[in-house]
Amino acid sequence: MAELEEAILEGKENQDVLDEMCEILHMPDFQQAQQSPSSKISPVVKAQLRAFVDRISLLYESLDKIPFHNFEHVSHVVMSASKLTNRIVNPNGIDYKQNSTNVALQIHNSTYGISSDPLLQSAIVFSALIHDCKHTGLTNAELIALGTPEAIKYHNKTVAEQNSVDLAWKILMESKYKDLRACIYSNEKELVHFRKLMVNAVMATDIADKDLKAYRENCWELAFKDKAEKDIDPMDRDRKNQPLSLSTLHKPVMLHTQCNTGQHTRNLMGLYMCGVFGVSYHEYLNYAKENRKEWEMKGQAIVAKMKSDCDAKYAKQLALKMNEQLDAIEE
Ligand SMILES: [Zn+2]
Repeated sequence: MAELEEAILEGKENQDVLDEMCEILHMPDFQQAQQSPSSKISPVVKAQLRAFVDRISLLYESLDKIPFHNFEHVSHVVMSASKLTNRIVNPNGIDYKQNSTNVALQIHNSTYGISSDPLLQSAIVFSALIHDCKHTGLTNAELIALGTPEAIKYHNKTVAEQNSVDLAWKILMESKYKDLRACIYSNEKELVHFRKLMVNAVMATDIADKDLKAYRENCWELAFKDKAEKDIDPMDRDRKNQPLSLSTLHKPVMLHTQCNTGQHTRNLMGLYMCGVFGVSYHEYLNYAKENRKEWEMKGQAIVAKMKSDCDAKYAKQLALKMNEQLDAIEE
């Protein structure tokens, strides 16, 4: 396993993180999932997890330096991802009075197998934690226009997100997190699965890239191509053998960004259509509508204040620079 970890860390020649994306993911079947041992988290692993989260938090800038993509934002996304994942594994509309195997089978089928895949659940939360590591506050378009070293390294594609994955993965591979890694994945198959899930979830947070947008729409087609959106009954769950489209996995991690940018309606509709997230659709739609209403009322004043703060900040910096230059000339 150490060799595979090493190989993933080094990466393949001419291959970026983005090239690792895949459209369809096969989930464990029900029988196989039932056989996997349930494991308790040891105090050693808990300590390493705490240390890892601490370490990752240092890769985020403070609130006054980066007003949005900071650790507060990431904590919010982690909480949302975790809440949505809990909704998936405890769905409504299940007859919980049946015997436990039948209950588990019904939940397995109704959630595309997500309920039987704890590795996927942890990958979603892990991805949420690391998805904005070392964010500079600039958009990918700005990083590309500036020609930053990262933009060059990632060939002007999904720059910030690929950088986040590489940085966080490198930390996870440090020897001090050995037991944490062994708790996340216990063999090479699980390592590859975890990495694939994490890469796809983090890349999905780049909502501006046109290719990725088309890719996500294609994922959605793959999941629901046999049904028109209007015909999808969220309670209709006979998808036992249907592979999970990564479109479903994308939802928890990307939703936060879209709620913030107002691109929520179609994706919240998607959340409802796939049915996996239960009542969360209504909850998120309400929050998004509330946010929009608040922006309509306060938005103009907030933007005007942000603009005047920026003007003042940069005018001050400019004045300081000019003074420095004048001092240098006088000397
Ligand atoms: Zn984010």
